[in-house]
Amino acid sequence: MSVPVRKAIRDIVGYTPGEQPQESGWTKLNTNENPYPPSPRVIQAVCDAATMNLNVYPDALATEFRRAAAAVFHLDPDWILAANGSDENLTIIVRTACENGQTIAYPYPSYVLYETLAQIQGCIVRRIPLDESFAWSAETADSIRRQARVVFVPNPNSPTGNRWSVDQLADLVPNDGLLVLDEAYGDFADPPHRAEMLHDSRFVGRAVVTRTLSKSYSLAGLRFGFSIANPILTAEMRKCKDSYNCDAISIAAATAAIRDQDWMQNNRSKIIATRSRLTERLPEFGFTVCPSEANFSWVRHATGQHEAIYQRLKQKRILVRYMQFPGAAADGGRLDGLRITVGTDNEIDRLLAEMNFAVGSVS
Ligand code: PMP
Repeated sequence: MSVPVRKAIRDIVGYTPGEQPQESGWTKLNTNENPYPPSPRVIQAVCDAATMNLNVYPDALATEFRRAAAAVFHLDPDWILAANGSDENLTIIVRTACENGQTIAYPYPSYVLYETLAQIQGCIVRRIPLDESFAWSAETADSIRRQARVVFVPNPNSPTGNRWSVDQLADLVPNDGLLVLDEAYGDFADPPHRAEMLHDSRFVGRAVVTRTLSKSYSLAGLRFGFSIANPILTAEMRKCKDSYNCDAISIAAATAAIRDQDWMQNNRSKIIATRSRLTERLPEFGFTVCPSEANFSWVRHATGQHEAIYQRLKQKRILVRYMQFPGAAADGGRLDGLRITVGTDNEIDRLLAEMNFAVGSVS
């Protein structure tokens, strides 16, 4: 049956999020969730919000949240735009900045949702090829600056976990466009990001930082993110969001979460300690592990049998993310590997206990 949809939509596959099994019993190390619960103050805020005024619309601008986030980043609240997950902010940026036919660029391998957002908007996609050390060449940066309307860069990157320096990022600021610094994992970096570069003259008015509460604040199930940008740009972006994009419960929860910095920092430290253990142990099983500044590790096995290892772990009800990057510059265009989220110590012990089974069968 033919249905009336835009050609740009019919022609794309769409983004496939990681598996979310709905039954219990899984060790879930595939979608970079935080293994620890959110702050008890968040639970209290959710209960309070649920018993108050759900018959009226929420604050369309999430004012309380913006005040709390602005205090953490030492900014005025006008710099902050709240969204239904940082994925929504990425959509808002594309809607705000890109005409149909303009170019959106992003490092490859990284978060392929950027490509889908570009395609939905009818934009041209340019991948920025990363070499073996996850760098781009000066010539590439030069042509990206001239051509791209929006450049998305996850920093730290996913799936590789590396972080680019402010100088490297400055090379990608488009001459007539925006650089989006997607800091979904920024709190796990060392030192953690605090959007300082927005005040650097090379970025002023031409960069947006996006942040999520899904990872460091343990709120992936809630859907809440925010962007930080110059107030003039933020005011334009506001026109492109849904009227009530964040609900009353998520605003209350996100506000409580960002106010409880101690809770977040404590979980961050535990995750970083567990990441070190994981990184130290995996080479025993034949893996090469990329140094990570995020809550996951990108690993590759000597046999190259990544999909088989993923399947064997799945038989044991352990989920990691098998990822393929066709056309990547590294590995003759057939880059693949496993991205393993850092869980609790117990979860990582379970993974390590099954690893001989998982890799033994493929080597
Ligand atoms: N950016 C990156 C790099 C991510 O990995 C993710 C999580 N999939 C997001 C953004 C989206 O985060 P959120 O849950 O806030 O939509």
